[in-house]
Amino acid sequence: MTLPRIVIERCHYLARCSQDAGAITRPFATDAMRCANELAGEWMREAGMAVRRDNVGNLIGRFEGIGDATLLLGSHLDSIRDAGKYDGPLGVNVAIAAVQRLHDQGRRLPFAIEVLGFADEEGLRFGSTYLGSRATAGTFDRADLDRVDADGVTMREAISAFGGDPDHLEDDRWQGGRLLGYCEVHIEQGPVLEERDLPVGVVSGIAAQERYSITFRGVAGHAGTVPMDRRHDALVAASLFIETAEGYAQWHEGLVATVGQLTVRPGAANVIPGEVTLTLDVRHAIDDELAVASSSLLAIASDIGKHRGIGVTTTKVSEHRAVRCDPLLVSLMSRAIADSGIPVAALASGAGHDAVAMSELTEVAMLFVRCKRGVSHNPAESVTTEDVAVAIDVLTRFLELLAAPTSA
Ligand SMILES: [Zn+2]
Repeated sequence: MTLPRIVIERCHYLARCSQDAGAITRPFATDAMRCANELAGEWMREAGMAVRRDNVGNLIGRFEGIGDATLLLGSHLDSIRDAGKYDGPLGVNVAIAAVQRLHDQGRRLPFAIEVLGFADEEGLRFGSTYLGSRATAGTFDRADLDRVDADGVTMREAISAFGGDPDHLEDDRWQGGRLLGYCEVHIEQGPVLEERDLPVGVVSGIAAQERYSITFRGVAGHAGTVPMDRRHDALVAASLFIETAEGYAQWHEGLVATVGQLTVRPGAANVIPGEVTLTLDVRHAIDDELAVASSSLLAIASDIGKHRGIGVTTTKVSEHRAVRCDPLLVSLMSRAIADSGIPVAALASGAGHDAVAMSELTEVAMLFVRCKRGVSHNPAESVTTEDVAVAIDVLTRFLELLAAPTSA
């Protein structure tokens, strides 16, 4: 079987490591993750790598080089609920395939390669993203250990049960000498490459992102007896905000704003909604533009509240600054794409990736692979064997260029 075909098959194998029958659901530190780590660990060994895991549960395969420097490759092995087969696993498997090629040819590069299969990127189990890559980058927040999953299990307990030591997560910070960077292959999760008829594209940067929780507090009341002009309906205020946020983002180039979660209390057919809490996710490739947009949107929420006699409170849940991919790694990746006979397209990533967390540790770069109709976070996620072949070729060429940047 050809290497690209093997990569696709392996993504299908990993799909069987799931806690839900008939769907792919692979949360952090579960039996499904153990299954994925065992499979990927076996493939790493076949490719000539020494395999270990760290306390948080990341899988790490090391392919020795001649010099003292190390290049990190990888992506995540966890998934959302009812996921597709390629978001995460494709990047791990393409990295293993590139190393496999070196191993088969008996080649050693002037640097070691470590392939990382991160234990958590999606945050499905504990609602906190990048657990794996933050541990590697040395930015793991110990306060997260007290988070509790839907069954009442703390993260501390989950890490112990998975075989790690939650009191020594700082040991997971990468410490192997000189780092050349972290490079991640990932499906695009958007339609741009397909629209341009390109199999791969180099990522210029990852958008800044802020997430807020906004609560509208009105007055609950009887749906039959409170006249329309006396109401302080929290849901109507929230609805106005949702529509205004959409319009605001449509009028601001490069901005995306999403309300994805809504909790209505008391939540009964015959009661005027007294309180609504919603999530607001805002992203832009430029930090300053995002800051202006966020403060404008929060001001809009508070204005809507004022006009309708409704209290509005906002809490910032998370924020990530924009990540610029390293110019040197981007230029080598661009050259690797061109050397493979493909027109070079650079695109910004609106989705967050492990590269965001890894940028706290080292320079980062990403290669996007076209996915069918841009569909992702969905069982219909699909890539072609031909595109995977291009991704492996480009990554292999990238390694060669990095090994001999002046002469190649
Ligand atoms: Zn992903």
